[in-house]
Amino acid sequence: MSATLLNGKKLAEKKREEMKKEVSALREKGIVPGLAVILVGENAASKVYVRSKQKACEEIGIHSTLTEMPDTISEQELLQEIDRLNNDASIDGILVQLPLPDHISEQAVIERISPAKDVDGFHPINIGKMMTGEDTFLPCTPFGVVEMLKEANIEFEGKHVVVIGRSNIVGKPVGQLLLNENATVTYCHSRTRNLPEITKQGDILIVAVGKANFVGEEHVKPGAVVVDVGINRVDGKLCGDVDFNQVEPVASYLTPVPGGVGPMTITMLLHNTIQSAKQRG
Ligand code: NAD
Repeated sequence: MSATLLNGKKLAEKKREEMKKEVSALREKGIVPGLAVILVGENAASKVYVRSKQKACEEIGIHSTLTEMPDTISEQELLQEIDRLNNDASIDGILVQLPLPDHISEQAVIERISPAKDVDGFHPINIGKMMTGEDTFLPCTPFGVVEMLKEANIEFEGKHVVVIGRSNIVGKPVGQLLLNENATVTYCHSRTRNLPEITKQGDILIVAVGKANFVGEEHVKPGAVVVDVGINRVDGKLCGDVDFNQVEPVASYLTPVPGGVGPMTITMLLHNTIQSAKQRG
């Protein structure tokens, strides 16, 4: 057997084409969706992410602004900038690129963003709504994972989903979203014992660990759907958390890296920004 690859790049392109039309319809009504991005410091990877988010906005007609701040700014100055954007009627979404310098509390920053403009879906109010299954901004990477699986008509109801990773931005919310879809969810993490014994029970295995080629064939039940969220660089080359060569012959579906989950994350950010613009009152 060899796995069917889930093509996130293609799905992202399809969704962005649809969004382009949605944005132009909004523009005809005088609403130009706006995303404000704040970048603190000189982190090279963050700069790349921010640039690609802005480029994606431009391509579908979302207005985007960038506030660049030095890593010497105080938490108070950053919070003031967020307040300014919270009050700017032309801005529908605010995104503060993480990580932040150590002297700034990420939690304080996330909590300062108006929940109505929290297109990353990280505000505790939006996380709470996600948990109770209310309509809200869903965190972009987990949202993208669920959209990819739905596109491939993969069923969730009664399936055993095993998530490796419990971060607030990927592991925890992806498990919650699939629980909301009636899956049975198990979380594994750095303190989990007998990892392969547990992961081998997963009909769907979601991997968000941040370690190159961490998951091998010994972790995967034959025929499982495997989603690789990891983005790692080895010798200058991008690779996931899943050892592709080992897992591809065992899994039924697999997301490649690059071209899998990655392109979906920004796509769902665009989606959330458009939804926010539609709610302008
Ligand atoms: P994180 O470092 O916050 O979390 C990693 C998780 O892995 C932790 O919960 C930890 O308990 C678990 N873990 C670590 N070692 C383990 C072990 N030996 N056994 C079992 N679990 C272990 O990382 P994150 O922010 O969740 O990101 C995970 C990966 O996903 C990274 O490679 C990151 O670059 C990538 N990522 C990709 C996207 C995307 O758009 N595709 C978005 C966010 C993150």
